[in-house]
Amino acid sequence: MTLTYTNGELTLHGHKLTDIAKKYGTPLFVYDEVMIRNQCRRFHTALKESGLSYTISYASKAFSAIQLFNLMTEEKMGLDVVSEGELYTALQSSVSPDTIHFHGNNKTDREIRYAIESGVEYFVIDSLSEIERLDELATKKVKALLRINPGVEAHTHEFIQTGQEDSKFGLSIQKGLALEGVRKIEKAKNIEFMGVHFHIGSQIFESTGTVATIEQVITWLSDNHIQAQVLNIGGGFGIKYTDEDVSYPIEEGIKIITDTLKSACHAVGYPVPAISLEPGRSIVGEAGVTLYEVGTVKEIPDTNYYVSIDGGMSDHIRTALYGATYELLLANREEEHDKLMTVAGKLCESGDIIRRDIKLPSSIHRGDLLVVLSTGAYHYSMSSNYNQMLKPAVVFVTPEEVRLVVKRQTLEHLIAQDIR
Ligand SMILES: *Cc1c(COP(=O)(O)O)cnc(C)c1O
Repeated sequence: MTLTYTNGELTLHGHKLTDIAKKYGTPLFVYDEVMIRNQCRRFHTALKESGLSYTISYASKAFSAIQLFNLMTEEKMGLDVVSEGELYTALQSSVSPDTIHFHGNNKTDREIRYAIESGVEYFVIDSLSEIERLDELATKKVKALLRINPGVEAHTHEFIQTGQEDSKFGLSIQKGLALEGVRKIEKAKNIEFMGVHFHIGSQIFESTGTVATIEQVITWLSDNHIQAQVLNIGGGFGIKYTDEDVSYPIEEGIKIITDTLKSACHAVGYPVPAISLEPGRSIVGEAGVTLYEVGTVKEIPDTNYYVSIDGGMSDHIRTALYGATYELLLANREEEHDKLMTVAGKLCESGDIIRRDIKLPSSIHRGDLLVVLSTGAYHYSMSSNYNQMLKPAVVFVTPEEVRLVVKRQTLEHLIAQDIR
């Protein structure tokens, strides 16, 4: 998202972040709606360019909200869900059930029934036993892909072949489980086999792992005479968290991927399947930021300089969970970043840190407004009520308006389930 200093204050589409914070309070998630839409359109344009038949579904776990889902409908995106709750939320929006895909390595009977009743487009079957459950619970024919484990693990800049045999997800090609799964689905009365799915990792910046996997999977399909109408290559397209990162090059990457699919199919005379993508982080990640108000500032001589903000691991877990790194900016003044400090949350854990060793203006004091960049994915959706913290509000910003999309929780929410 493009935040710019105008007269010394950070603005988004002309709206001052200080005004937004004043109106909606902090901590606050602020999304650039224009950027969310644009990310969807970039994927669409790149896939259209390939001439292949395709679908894109937004991986809703990255950030689930009714208004976001409505926006996904407008941008012709389907939805991936992995739980009763995600499906329920999706069904409250304008998303059409027949564009929803139901994922998960342990779908409960209740979830399977709910998804069938709701008329989801297809299930992504994740185990041999799920085939039996689905076949038994289905009252009419349901469509399914099989999630296979190609034994490729892709993280950040590298991929490892046979790096991920030991996974709770999918059925291993190498160990013969994937083939057993396909044959089992073909024999099932109530399941229509549509194709295969893989997802080799997240925060991927290069296409080499995906390219190798597509080639391997097409060869495997062809060798075993398996007709896949759909090849779903998952999500995982990387985003820029820090100044050192460069986000996944969607246009070039999709071209490489779709060219690979075509050439791999032609090489073995295999009919080119439709391609499906499931981006999550790359749709919303860089389009969101978190606004926090600065509270306590503490200097430990010759040791560290702590600036604490009014949220923390309850709305920002990725630093504690993965050691993720973020860029921060002071929203209400434009000043030189001249002092090394640690920005910490207010929760009762030493690990409740937003960012260690970051240079920010030495003048930072109580009442200042800090922005944490690239928090649009896996922040709100991973937020918790730890320390009985309230989940923040969420707003969407366009040049025309700032719009409340999710209300801040209230104290009543915290005890709503308590039996007195
Ligand atoms: C998490 C996940 C995605 C989305 O991953 P991103 O890194 O957010 O793009 C897509 N498909 C599956 C199966 C996933 O588990």
